[in-house]
Formats: sequence, structure tokens, C-alpha cells
Amino acid sequence: AAGTATAPEGSGPAPADAPARGGLVEIRAVRKSFGDLEVLRGIDLRVEPGEVTAVLGPSGSGKSTLLRTINHLETIDAGLITVDGEVIGYRREGNLLHELHEHEVLRQRTAIGMVFQSFNLFAHMTALANVAEAPRRALGVPRRQAEARARELLELVGLADKAAVYPRQLSGGQQQRVAIARALALRPKVLLFDEPTSALDPELVEEVLAVIRSLARAGTTLVIVTHEISFARDVADTVVFMDQGQIVEQGPPGEVLDAPRHPRTRAFLQRVR
Ligand code: ADP
Ligand code: MG
Repeated sequence: AAGTATAPEGSGPAPADAPARGGLVEIRAVRKSFGDLEVLRGIDLRVEPGEVTAVLGPSGSGKSTLLRTINHLETIDAGLITVDGEVIGYRREGNLLHELHEHEVLRQRTAIGMVFQSFNLFAHMTALANVAEAPRRALGVPRRQAEARARELLELVGLADKAAVYPRQLSGGQQQRVAIARALALRPKVLLFDEPTSALDPELVEEVLAVIRSLARAGTTLVIVTHEISFARDVADTVVFMDQGQIVEQGPPGEVLDAPRHPRTRAFLQRVR
């Protein structure tokens, strides 16, 4: 239900006061509870355009929930999230924020790509159709144009020869690469990855990481939740360590991964290494 609302409580400065040139993704004082369980306890994070942010932390620390708030798969209880200056879930009018209608949320969401642990491809569609579907539906791109672009994207992820194949005929690594191509098809401003290699057999992990690495090198803005520490060190500009709903530590990989300051970061890294 959309209606007129002021900014969520505790959201800090009115959005009209926000600097015109912020990060591509700005997360400010975000809180989120499920019932009595506070899962995000005041998250502040800024992602610059073209930057890669790796989010690490123990299971249950709120990493997935944080990603899901960025594309409004979860609503937030307090704080503010903007992507490229737009307030997620709201429209600005002076100092007021008006809740967006569902179709407007969908439009906002097209600018934010997401790749999940479980690839979530459409089983009854070919790889090509999986990639071409969203631009056709969400943006009304004509079929031929959407398919031409889909072929380019399949080539980008090394699957040009699999266009006519169905997901069940692909390995997990190939399915995840199709999922990445599908996320790219909407030309997102930022691409969110939630443990993209966690569901894969070990020998299939590298082919997916290689694709993500190439996106990073091409300057795509990425936020990646991962347990692959060496990958995070290699690809990330910023490493964020989360624990119990808070960002405990963040900085360049050389600091957070090699010289962690916080005992909880140290304990976590010792466990996963
Ligand atoms: P992570 O991705 O770091 O493992 P999550 O964000 O998935 O953590 O979950 C953080 C906490 O929130 C966990 O305790 C989880 O059980 C809980 N949680 C996540 N989603 C829901 C939900 N939809 N309803 C209730 N609890 C949830
Ligand atoms: Mg998770």
C-alpha cells in the first residue's frame, strides 16, 4: 500500500540535505528486525561507482538481509538507502518521502542486479531466453534486440555455445554464469552477489569467480557477499566485516584481511582460513 509518509524514524538528516554527489550506493543508519530479532543494527556503508565491496562475516550476521534491503526485497525499519541518488522504496518531494507503488519499486529494482547462491534460472527456458526475458518484460525491449544482447552477454560469460540449452543440461557453474548474464541484461548500476559460489562443487568455483573478476576489472560496481577470502583480497577495493548485524570493521583488503584490528574479525578469519 503506497501512501504519504515521512522518512522512516531515525533516518537522520532529511534527504533534501543529502549531498547531490554521494556514493553510488549509500546506506545510512539502517535498521531491520524480524520480530524481536534485530538483524541490522545501524549499518552505514558507501559504495563508490566502479568499486568492488566484499562483505564477509559469520552465518546469521545479516549479510543477505543487507543485500536484500538494497533492492527492496526487504523493507527497512529505520535509516535510508539510496542508489544513484534515488531513495530506495521512496520518492522525494521536498523534505518528504512518499512510499513508492509496487510498479515503481519494480522500476527501481531494474537498476540493481542480484545474483543468488541458488541460480534461480527459469527451468523451462533456454539460456538465451533466460537472459533475454527481463529486458523484454521489464523494459519492453523487442525480442530480436533482447536476444542479440543476450547472445553478447552469454559470450561475455563464456557460454556463447550454450544459448539453446536448458538449465538442467548445464553444470552449476554454467548455470551461475547464465544467472550473471541475466543480471547484466538490465544494465544495472550495481550488481549484488550473495555467496555466488557457495552452492557449487569446488572445481566449478573458479570459472564463476573468473567472470566476476572480469566484471570488476571492467569497472562494474559490485557488492559481493563471499567466504572466498583470497578472492576478496584479489578483487575488492573495500572489505567489510559484519557480525551480529553491525559492520565491525571495513577498509582495504590489506588492512581488514591481513591486519584486522577487531578481535571478532580475527577470530572469523582464523576459522575460515
Ligand atoms: P547471513 O546472510 O549473514 O547468514 P541473514 O541476513 O540471512 O544472515 O540472516 C540474519 C538473521 O536474520 C538470521 O538470524 C536469520 O535467521 C534471520 N532472518 C533472515 N531472514 C529472515 C526472515 N525473513 N524472517 C525471520 N528471520 C530472518
Ligand atoms: Mg546469507
